[in-house]
Amino acid sequence: MAERRAFVGGNWKMNTNSGSARELAAAVAAACADAAAEVAVFPPFPYLLTVREALGSSAVKLGAQDMWIEGDGAYTGEVSAAMLADCGVSVVLCGHSERRHVIGESDELVGKKVRASLAAGFDVILASGETLDQREVGETDAVNARQLRAGLEGVSAAEMARVTIAYEPVWAIGTGKTASPADAQDAHAKIRSVLADLYSSDVAGATRIQYGGSMKPGSAGELLAPPDIDGGLVGGAALKAEDFAAIVAAGG
Ligand code: PEP
Repeated sequence: MAERRAFVGGNWKMNTNSGSARELAAAVAAACADAAAEVAVFPPFPYLLTVREALGSSAVKLGAQDMWIEGDGAYTGEVSAAMLADCGVSVVLCGHSERRHVIGESDELVGKKVRASLAAGFDVILASGETLDQREVGETDAVNARQLRAGLEGVSAAEMARVTIAYEPVWAIGTGKTASPADAQDAHAKIRSVLADLYSSDVAGATRIQYGGSMKPGSAGELLAPPDIDGGLVGGAALKAEDFAAIVAAGG
């Protein structure tokens, strides 16, 4: 199997202010200075520059929680690739469940965002995951496969080197519930087989698949141990540098 370096992202969602974002970024940079894992933080748009400055020369990457699919122009309220690049962003999160299920983004729009982000030169984290209703009727793997096929439409095998998948069961996000390590491993293995089907076993073996959903320092060790889990996407616990760093350490 290909060597996959763990990747842990901290999704700050719509939290922090200019002061706390600066402090959190500086604390994450210090706490993750020797991390074996790749690390990225995803602050709210208004604080990207503040966080960039606070990260300084740290290896922690700056991420964007979303991106619009068109270039600069008449798209009120949206943020372009050029703006994100100008702020020092290197990785874009596409298809987070809150964007799919709260904001109403379709699988097709998520796919456009993935393609636009890659075309602009960014790395991408593409999130997928089932709701509780879908899980209860046995649709977990079908939902992931559908979201991945749409999200990766038009993405080449070469571009997959810049794509990470985040498996995030919707019922586990922000709820305090996590998938069991065995259930998460099973979903990750199925996702990897979808990638093998879409591309090749080499691409599937090289692509990192993060787990996301209420991961905390106490659960990170067992959630990040299974063979197909290559790091995490972390929400609530990413707002405390110490907790986030503990998860990063468990991943690497
Ligand atoms: C997320 O927002 O991607 C996430 C996993 O959130 P939480 O860790 O709070 O469940």
